[in-house]
Amino acid sequence: MALHMSARGWSERAFEQKRDVIAKVVMAELVQYGVALADLSASIGAQPEVDAAAFAAITAPMNGERLPGAVAVGFVVPAGDADVAGLQARWRESGDPELTLSPDPAATGEHYFAVLGKSLTGPATVPQGVDLASVAAVASALREARSGGGVVTSATFEPAGGGDRSFVMAAAVRGGEAGEVRGWVVMTFLGREFLGMPVGLIGGEQVDVEFADVSGDRPVTVATWQSGARPDHRMPAWSTVMPEPPGHWRLTVRPTVRLLPAGQAWPAPVAAVAGSLITILLATLTATVVTSRDRALRRVDEATAELRDDIARREAVEQQLRRREEELVGFAGVVAHDLRSPLANVVGYADMIRLLDDGDLSEKQRAHLARLQSSAGRMQALIEDLLAYATADNTTLRSEPVDLGALVDVIVAERRVTAPDAEITRTPLPVVLGDESQIRQVLDNLIGNAVKYTPKDRHARISISATDVTETSFCRVEIADRGIGIPESRLSEVFNAFTRVEGSENYPGTGLGLAIVQRIVERHNGDVGVAGNPGGGTIFWFTLPTAGARSSVP
Ligand code: ADP
Repeated sequence: MALHMSARGWSERAFEQKRDVIAKVVMAELVQYGVALADLSASIGAQPEVDAAAFAAITAPMNGERLPGAVAVGFVVPAGDADVAGLQARWRESGDPELTLSPDPAATGEHYFAVLGKSLTGPATVPQGVDLASVAAVASALREARSGGGVVTSATFEPAGGGDRSFVMAAAVRGGEAGEVRGWVVMTFLGREFLGMPVGLIGGEQVDVEFADVSGDRPVTVATWQSGARPDHRMPAWSTVMPEPPGHWRLTVRPTVRLLPAGQAWPAPVAAVAGSLITILLATLTATVVTSRDRALRRVDEATAELRDDIARREAVEQQLRRREEELVGFAGVVAHDLRSPLANVVGYADMIRLLDDGDLSEKQRAHLARLQSSAGRMQALIEDLLAYATADNTTLRSEPVDLGALVDVIVAERRVTAPDAEITRTPLPVVLGDESQIRQVLDNLIGNAVKYTPKDRHARISISATDVTETSFCRVEIADRGIGIPESRLSEVFNAFTRVEGSENYPGTGLGLAIVQRIVERHNGDVGVAGNPGGGTIFWFTLPTAGARSSVP
């Protein structure tokens, strides 16, 4: 009896913990979308002219991995009946030359046309020219965002042609002297996918979850996570109305009999709870770094405009922003460092569950475990990269002769363990002057990318060579590959932190490797660049002082 009681107490506590984590993760996601959208509308509003190129550049860092559940983001503009033809001509010039606006004949007064769009879930294109006036819930959210400001969440609706319930979040884009409304940025969500990722990971078989829109007269279920296990009616379901936006979403979590599985699975909740807490922390951390950088850049723009004639004050603002960014990178480094050991625990527990599994786990449990392991692997990669990013900036650089040839040979030998078919050749390489561990990081990231970004059905072909830079004591090292290549239009962005180019979705990565490379090379007073490889692939290059050079390491 006592045992039974303590088991029940344990399941109640486990249920409390689980539902709190689920509510926090869902809330963290909602907040993250709001911040992303508000930043997007401010960045687009700051453009002198909104066009396809500006929209593509600003939305480039947004992807489905960072915004799970969001399926697309678009720019929407208003038009009266008489303006449609003129608007179509204007947007054919600034966006898609084949754009056709299709006004909804039933819409009276105003139309809302999606004229630019980006899919967040893959290469699929977003239908443009659609009149959102035909979706009452969206039209009313757009009008509310225009009159009230801020980010507005629409009531849910069934997309044309049926399918999963959807909703949008919208923010008005203001610009010009008077801050007039130029249009809206709109993010579209599919309910099922919105809930699936975080809740699937945390809920497992132990709870059922329902996410409902309670903003209208009757609650409308947007998404459910069905664990497949029997509900446990001995414990009541738990419901909460999310604080943001007020009175809009209700989350209900119901316990199942799997909440306290007989003895074997106690580490799973621990690992999952710890894993999800880390997910929240990392999501918040990543969002903080990205949005702070965007915000910082915006503030520089604003400051520049205001202080046109006051160069000294502008420099002070920039210096302050640089310090702020340095602080943030330092902060990211500290947090990443502190997350390492709990994450190692999560990985350890997950490995233990897999190793102890002698057929007790169901297929579904095994699939959840595999997801947990792969998510934890991605977190580990992100943490390692955040640490390297912080280190690249903050550590004191050593200045010592470094034999590039020997270093490349060690790195190549290590890479061959996981890519035995890779064909990697090199010419003689010079001895340079710098910090060996940092230069190793540069070569490792560039050679690692060259191996990684090779189509799956081909083996990597990489050549590494060096030339002296005429009349300076620098050498130039090139790493040329025959991989998937980078579109010409994106070459200038790949060194920005968190940039991932379309086409790289199927390869693991954090978008930090090249930013680390750039920081390290620049701290050695060198340059770094990238170009297409004639005949296919990419050439990355960097310059470093040769050992004969006068000390140029700070
Ligand atoms: P990650 O590889 O972790 O995504 P990086 O900063 O190393 O981050 O690279 C940024 C982006 O640049 C990658 O996501 C990829 O799209 C592109 N990229 C980098 N190296 C290569 C390469 N050798 N070939 C093709 N694309 C590359």
